[in-house]
Amino acid sequence: MKRIVILGSTGSIGQSTLKVIEHHHDRFQIVGLAAGRNVSLLEEQCRRHPEAQFTLGSEEGQAAILKSNGSLAGRNRGCGPAAVLDLIEATRPDLVLNAFVGFAGLKPAHYCLEKGINVALANKEAIVAGGQLLQTAARTSGAAVIPVDSEHVAVSQCLIGRPIEQVRRICLTASGGALRDRPLEELETAGVEDVLSHPTWNMGSKITVDSATMLNKGLEVIEARWLFDLPL
Ligand code: NDP
Repeated sequence: MKRIVILGSTGSIGQSTLKVIEHHHDRFQIVGLAAGRNVSLLEEQCRRHPEAQFTLGSEEGQAAILKSNGSLAGRNRGCGPAAVLDLIEATRPDLVLNAFVGFAGLKPAHYCLEKGINVALANKEAIVAGGQLLQTAARTSGAAVIPVDSEHVAVSQCLIGRPIEQVRRICLTASGGALRDRPLEELETAGVEDVLSHPTWNMGSKITVDSATMLNKGLEVIEARWLFDLPL
């Protein structure tokens, strides 16, 4: 039985991961859940996973989580970035799925890798901001950074059994986001609704905006550089 903590359980990746895990009760157990602000969904998830301790990563959640009702109170590890590390320390999982969005994911990723805990990393901002730091910690402890971002999962599967020295270059595919087929002159007037309606994927809002502007592809190039230890 693999014991798992999900950081960002209320987000797009977090909820999809929980759905998969809920089909495999015999193989995986959720021991920790962390969200940002969505207390009601987090509470619902905790009811479905009675072994899970939980925390809210954002400080603003403090008031809401303090009100959390009696049946869950004993599993509440508090709020804020330090509480997220406390959750990991208390549960000692086999794997942490890091699906926080933005910079909030860097510290817990580093903490896990330093402690020798494998990290399935969706939170690309962590590796973009702190790739060297994370890979050094992973190398020292022997823990693995497992890519979750789809292009990088595909690349890592292609590389199974092949030494990285044999790789000349990695090409990342880029289908384009919501604004792909818009004429340039219309981009200035594109609104939030236009940008958030990705033609193919239903993802969190930050990555959807990053896809529309193609910034996401830039982040993915940097992500690949650190995940596969290749020059930019
Ligand atoms: P979402 O916005 O859907 O979810 C983000 C999660 O992070 C939520 O659980 C949110 O909590 C939590 N969160 C937000 N701010 C904080 C904070 N300050 N501290 C702690 N938790 C916080 O994002 P996605 O699931 O789309 O993306 C997650 C990561 O995965 C991103 O780095 C993204 O780039 C990457 N990714 C996503 C893909 C996708 O298909 N969605 C594909 C590839 C990569 P709450 O909602 O409770 O506030």
